[in-house]
Amino acid sequence: MPPHILIVDDEPDLELLIRQKFRHQIRDGKYRFSFAGNGVEALEMLKQENDYDMILTDLNMPEMDGLTLLSNIKFLDGQYKAVVVSAYGDLDNIRNAMNLGAFDFITKPINFSDLEKTIEKTLVEVEVIRKGMQAREQLQKAIHDKEIAEIERQKAEEAKKHERQFLANMSHEIRTPMNAIIGMTKLLMNISTEYRQLKYIKGIKDSAENLLAIINDILDLSKIESGKIKIEHIPFSINDTLELVITTLKHKADEKGLTLSSKIDPSVPSGIKGDPVRLYQVLMNLVGNAIKFTERGHVNINVITAGHSDGQIPIRFDVSDTGIGISEENLSKIFEKFTQASSDTTRKFGGTGLGLTISKQLIEIQKGLITVWSRPGEGSVFSFTIPYLETVETPVEKGTDIPSPNTLNLIKDKRVLIVEDNAFNQIVAVDSIHEIIPDMPLDLAENGRIAVEMHQKNNYDLIIMDIQMPEMDGFQASQKIRKELPSPLSAVPIIAMTASVTREEVEDCFEAGMDEFVAKPFNQAELISKMSRLLLNENPKQNKYEHH
Ligand code: ADP
Repeated sequence: MPPHILIVDDEPDLELLIRQKFRHQIRDGKYRFSFAGNGVEALEMLKQENDYDMILTDLNMPEMDGLTLLSNIKFLDGQYKAVVVSAYGDLDNIRNAMNLGAFDFITKPINFSDLEKTIEKTLVEVEVIRKGMQAREQLQKAIHDKEIAEIERQKAEEAKKHERQFLANMSHEIRTPMNAIIGMTKLLMNISTEYRQLKYIKGIKDSAENLLAIINDILDLSKIESGKIKIEHIPFSINDTLELVITTLKHKADEKGLTLSSKIDPSVPSGIKGDPVRLYQVLMNLVGNAIKFTERGHVNINVITAGHSDGQIPIRFDVSDTGIGISEENLSKIFEKFTQASSDTTRKFGGTGLGLTISKQLIEIQKGLITVWSRPGEGSVFSFTIPYLETVETPVEKGTDIPSPNTLNLIKDKRVLIVEDNAFNQIVAVDSIHEIIPDMPLDLAENGRIAVEMHQKNNYDLIIMDIQMPEMDGFQASQKIRKELPSPLSAVPIIAMTASVTREEVEDCFEAGMDEFVAKPFNQAELISKMSRLLLNENPKQNKYEHH
């Protein structure tokens, strides 16, 4: 639209004159003119439409003069400039008009070529002002957007923090009672002799373990998705990990009459650096699935080196079975969350449909890749490759076997304090230790504060410490022992025992001065072997979670 100019004058001929003088410009769409006979009329027009770019107003008019008009239009929000027409030499009025915001003046009688120059000048000024205002608005908007983004970021961070805390709590809250259930069921199994009782107890134990596995899956997935899983780079033996998988799953294969075999190519080095726990998890899932979905034939694990470059050794694992296979259309879906190939899978085979999602993500955060080949009725091959690092270091001895009777004899009189607030877990811990070392003197403390006091009185040889407890938690108690108690009290070995196994918490344990860590539900052999190592001082404090 051409610039819109409002002429305010009580001189009736002016409209005709202007239309006549500017007829070319009007025809060419350079300007648009509107006319008002006095200030009141002009104000009305300005209020109704705010597309004016310039106002040219006389000063002496009936009803409302030009100065009053100027002082009124200040309250309107149009973006225009006013120019006054004044008698030559009327300096007072010109000054007043300028003070009221007029941009320029022209003198009477109006010279039309002067008027056109003034119009041009004024319109340029209006344009400049508008651009400036636009820029200012944009700037303000940018600042505002940035502030909003910052608030959003803080909110997201806060939410993430809560999520992490929630996960740690959940994992603790769920695993603590599960630990008690599984632990006590195992103890009950050991003392039961009646066949039917044993059968039921075994049922409870198996179901509880299944439930724990599902809970672990869900917690794992949320940990991966919140970016909480960190990958270890420690020396380990693929052979050991594979053996562990086979030992754990062998009975399941045997039950179904399947052969479970594995072959490691000689090109695979005996020690590499990476994350054994994650490899174990992925293999357990793939091999577990292979056994689950195969009725007859075999399940085989094949391990081979897939190239070698820059200190990196990509290792490929093929898990193949002769099972039911997966149809082509389902192949693309099975890695999705909660997805199973057919809707009756859960009914027939159980499972949550999370295993492959977790495996895929675990492989990918190790910079690896997983693929699958399958044909219905023939079987499936899940192949994944993980780039491990070369190393000359020897894998850390896991040593989770129950120590020899000789060793047990050496530690049987050591005095141990168990710090645990949950009464059921106290029983599990005490009975699990007493089952293997019946006479070991064990004391109980139900929180960190009581533990520190008891240790001051009794100078224990070892403390097994829960983390989350009322009054004083395991971190605080350990720090207090290490920093505030005199030697030798301050040097007592401490094993952290907790249901929450996030890496952060493990790190916090070592930071608080603890020497070892067992995750609940704990493995009896692992607990006893760690106790014996610390009691016999065989394991100088080492942080095996350190990054290499
Ligand atoms: P879940 O085993 O808990 O159902 P997964 O994510 O491990 O969940 O597997 C998803 C689905 O992929 C399974 O439900 C099954 O339909 C299919 N699947 C996985 N592995 C195999 C296999 N070896 N043979 C046939 N189908 C399989």
